[in-house]
Amino acid sequence: MQALLKLIQDGRFHSGQALGAVLGISRSAVWKQLQNLEAELGLVVHSVRGRGYCLERPLSLLDMERLGVSTGLGTWPVTLHYQLDSTNAEALRMLGAGGCGPFVVLAERQSSGRGRRGRKWVSPFAENLYYSLAWPVAGGARQLQGLSLVVGLAVLQALRAFGLVQAGLKWPNDILVDGRKIAGVLLELVGDLADLCHVVIGVGVNVNMLSDVDEITQPWTSMAVVSGVTVDRNAFVRELSSQLGSYLHRHQQLGFPAFIPEWNQGDLWAGRSVTVTTTAQATHGVVCGVDVTGALILQTEDGRQVFSGGEISLRLKDDT
Ligand code: ATP
Repeated sequence: MQALLKLIQDGRFHSGQALGAVLGISRSAVWKQLQNLEAELGLVVHSVRGRGYCLERPLSLLDMERLGVSTGLGTWPVTLHYQLDSTNAEALRMLGAGGCGPFVVLAERQSSGRGRRGRKWVSPFAENLYYSLAWPVAGGARQLQGLSLVVGLAVLQALRAFGLVQAGLKWPNDILVDGRKIAGVLLELVGDLADLCHVVIGVGVNVNMLSDVDEITQPWTSMAVVSGVTVDRNAFVRELSSQLGSYLHRHQQLGFPAFIPEWNQGDLWAGRSVTVTTTAQATHGVVCGVDVTGALILQTEDGRQVFSGGEISLRLKDDT
């Protein structure tokens, strides 16, 4: 099925006979595999008498040969799956089985993509990027300080390198374009902080997703929506890995404080009135940047308050 998908990913018509000849199978076996593609991967295949079969729209499939060139991925082993529950879950399983980072897990689709607080990350087949990097952390809690914000910066730079110059950050680590979410980051820690531990850095980027998805409960966009062209996902993986490698190494050496000016510069909500919601309460105030730990500084009626941790949600005041 994967070989067939590779042949038809260009979105052009291919006759059943030609596909069968290349794959060494009968025309009816081709037809059966195409039906499986529709049923299992949610793809739409058009069939036109006299012309053959074509996908509803072209795909940019991930390809091990095209992922493994010169940048960060040259040194980080990559595992590519057609389908996973979640790339973070798989990376955690690999670490649990004795694996040692850095390594990257990619999937063409996630059935249970994860957001923060157990929420779902919508992950249709071959459209976006579902990327997890298992990153070793030695040297205690300080090495984790501000790490998720630094990952957000790396994703932001990768998007900008692909022409999305208007992309920016929303604390702690969402990336937005025109007020719409284009990427999210989820960090999960495993191991003993006093010894060697790993952080699994999950990055979801909407790359070529175009169609409306009911399950996404907030405004979203994708690289293809913004740029108007289908993006080469293999090239984007290389760019993202290269940015992550560079930012993570600098974070290891310099710590988070060195990134504060850059982070504040990329913060789309700096100076805006927001509502910060925790499990206990909602607080109104104006965003005043981040502190040396990566916590959000809010100017409220009662003075400056600082927020950190995974249970916090940030909304523009006008939207709440
Ligand atoms: P909050 O919005 O409360 O600050 P968050 O923005 O950090 O949380 P996450 O938990 O990281 O959100 O991601 C889950 C949320 O992202 C979901 O509730 C959903 O609305 C949205 N979402 C899910 N899949 C996608 C996607 N592919 N693109 C954009 N947004 C998505």
